Amino acid sequence: MKINILGTEYTIERRKQSEDPKLKDYDGYCDPSVKRIVVESKEEGPNSIENLRQCEDEILRHEIVHAFLVESGLQDNTHVCSKGWARNEELVDWIALQAPKLFKAFQEGNCL
Ligand SMILES: [Zn+2]
Repeated sequence: MKINILGTEYTIERRKQSEDPKLKDYDGYCDPSVKRIVVESKEEGPNSIENLRQCEDEILRHEIVHAFLVESGLQDNTHVCSKGWARNEELVDWIALQAPKLFKAFQEGNCL
């Protein structure tokens, strides 16, 4: 799947952990160097939650927020150790979690 992030095309891929070693440490990641977002395709297990798709969607929203920050020039896309606010995982998570509610409020306020 491809999506447009501020004029730049990003590829979204769902991969199993066994297919991508980076997914051993992360549920997903955004690689701005190749304009790719990867989300772990969760596999059902005895301890997994029931709604795995919802979990994957939340991860995807989180990684899309990272891509927006990169494409806005707010997140240095070459230095992973950068500690600027745009790399604050709590903030990125907040935006990813609240975005659907913000979108709904904008619609209700007729200001979208
Ligand atoms: Zn993150």
